[in-house]
Amino acid sequence: MKKIKLLLVDDEKPFLDTITKRLEKRELYVSAVYSGKEALVELENNKNIEVVVLDVKMPGMDGIETLTEIKKSFPLVEVIMLTGHATVETAIDGMKVGAFDYLMKPCDIDTLVTKVNDAMEKKRKHDEKIIEARMKEISGRMV
Ligand SMILES: [Mg+2]
Repeated sequence: MKKIKLLLVDDEKPFLDTITKRLEKRELYVSAVYSGKEALVELENNKNIEVVVLDVKMPGMDGIETLTEIKKSFPLVEVIMLTGHATVETAIDGMKVGAFDYLMKPCDIDTLVTKVNDAMEKKRKHDEKIIEARMKEISGRMV
């Protein structure tokens, strides 16, 4: 199985560094950035990113704004919202605008990995369907 390419976005550097180190021990390629703006740049520069784990509460562009921009520019990338108890409603709003799921902080690493895996599977199936549709379109044109 191809390693998952994951982008972590959170303004809390110590949290992000810890989780990055722990995830790198698993079958994952991890990039980590500290803001929504940086996340969009990273997605633009790295078209292989499949799943984004996105903090809800960040200064500047918040999680919902970032999610909206991601879904606009990179609609096939799956996003998991990361939230504290105070912002669960925001995470739910996120799912209404296209987030795959949400996770409560502090999050258990196994739960995170499971959700990231589920999101990756959804994305890869979706990608396959698009490829199949393109193939059909091409073979249809040749008949
Ligand atoms: Mg935060």
